[in-house]
Amino acid sequence: MIHTGPGNRPLFIMASHYIGRFAPSPTGPLHFGSIITAVASYADARAHHGEWLLRIEDVDEPRTVPGSADDILRTLEALGFEWSGEVMYQTRRKEAYAAALQQLEKNHLTYRCTCTRSELQALSDNSIYPGLCAHKHRPKNGDHAVRLRVADKPVSLVDAVMGPYQRHLKNEVGDFVIRRRDGLFAYQLAVVVDDAYQGITHIVRGADLLDSTPRQIYLQQCLNYTTPDYLHLPLAINSEGEKLSKQTCAPHIKTESTVLFDALNFLGQQAPAELEHESCEIIWQWAITNWQHTAIPKNNQLPPSGYIV
Ligand code: GLU
Ligand code: ZN
Repeated sequence: MIHTGPGNRPLFIMASHYIGRFAPSPTGPLHFGSIITAVASYADARAHHGEWLLRIEDVDEPRTVPGSADDILRTLEALGFEWSGEVMYQTRRKEAYAAALQQLEKNHLTYRCTCTRSELQALSDNSIYPGLCAHKHRPKNGDHAVRLRVADKPVSLVDAVMGPYQRHLKNEVGDFVIRRRDGLFAYQLAVVVDDAYQGITHIVRGADLLDSTPRQIYLQQCLNYTTPDYLHLPLAINSEGEKLSKQTCAPHIKTESTVLFDALNFLGQQAPAELEHESCEIIWQWAITNWQHTAIPKNNQLPPSGYIV
């Protein structure tokens, strides 16, 4: 029997068509930078008649700010976002990450690393891990990180906004951590396992993560997952050229419709001026009907006034 979804379309066709997501870390309230990502991923999914899922990326537990996940959900609701299904929380997904880790271990793609932060900082280029523990036997006593052995060849992608991009993982990144020394799974592993589990076909997110994408594609290959399409967005930066974040004290946001309107214009969508004071519903109607990802600029920009103190 073929199960059917809305409009009697077979579910397997719906499932393979377009599934997007927004995956904020609950480290503070949404700021203009994260709203841009939410708006772009939602508009792109809806313009493709796709699904849009929500995942709270609380894998880095020490960085979680209590209450901020709920705060993020309330903000999204107020802005008129509608997600499919239940919100996923990474802290409830540890068994899945452990299973993926085990699979990588079984295929001899991992090793234990006991290097300390100060040992790594003493290296001439501490941005590339030189494989110090790659061929050493480190005890399995829990006091170690787990690294993934990377391949000695470039990993490339064609990003929908940023164009062709590649990284030679061995020369430019090194074997990277997938389980931290404190026992927590690394973002790189968690995001790849979750995107595959949720059947994500299109990833729309900030350009600060472009550099992580070849690592994630490599992990997908190691785990026999399919690779989604990627679209990386320009960042909202302050006048010092720094990315807006909770750390740079981005201020709390303004009225809902103005925020949506500003986000669309930041994304190059040229929303007509009279839309600014309409309801979120009307703005979304316009945004979804008129969405053009080809209009998104590549360069980072300052947000409109009122978003930075
Ligand atoms: N949780 C990440 C962040 O808030 C986003 C991860 C992703 O979109 O892949 O920056
Ligand atoms: Zn090491």
